[in-house]
Amino acid sequence: MPLTLLHPAYALAAKLLAPRLSLPLLAAGSVVSDLDQVFAFLTGFEHRRLVLHSVFGAVIIVPLLALLLVWLAARVLPRLGVPGFDTPRLSLLAYVSAAIGGLTHVLVDGLYHAENPLLWPLVANVDSPLYPLFGRVLYPLFDVLSLVLLLTLLRHALRKQGYGLWLLAREPKKAIAVLFS
Ligand SMILES: [Zn+2]
Repeated sequence: MPLTLLHPAYALAAKLLAPRLSLPLLAAGSVVSDLDQVFAFLTGFEHRRLVLHSVFGAVIIVPLLALLLVWLAARVLPRLGVPGFDTPRLSLLAYVSAAIGGLTHVLVDGLYHAENPLLWPLVANVDSPLYPLFGRVLYPLFDVLSLVLLLTLLRHALRKQGYGLWLLAREPKKAIAVLFS
């Protein structure tokens, strides 16, 4: 999907289904695949979705990048006034959380984009085998559906802590701290 920041919707959904998963690592795992696009932009490479958009990349590489991202967030965000981020502990649960976040990204992108090398390196071409199934139908709706899902799950998560969705607009730093603590 074009908007990287909508991908955590599916990570939040995974957290609802399996509450023991780490939300920071699910969320980080759900966005780091788009580093492919940064790489392609910087190098002028013709394909925008590369190894991080494959199932292989989501399971093997994305968790390492997600752990690094959350480790950096735990150092930087408190200095910016956003408390609540703990340094991630290396554990199987942490790894699995990040891998599930990565898998939600590549599967959603595989449905959404015709060009997404989901099965690399088993299949060399970059065509997504999922796109013909639903992509043509979902393409115009996917961003709207993802935004509705994200807002619904954020509202649910904030209400569990005694806040409303308004907290995101009024006090975004506090909202992030509440969601990830
Ligand atoms: Zn992507």
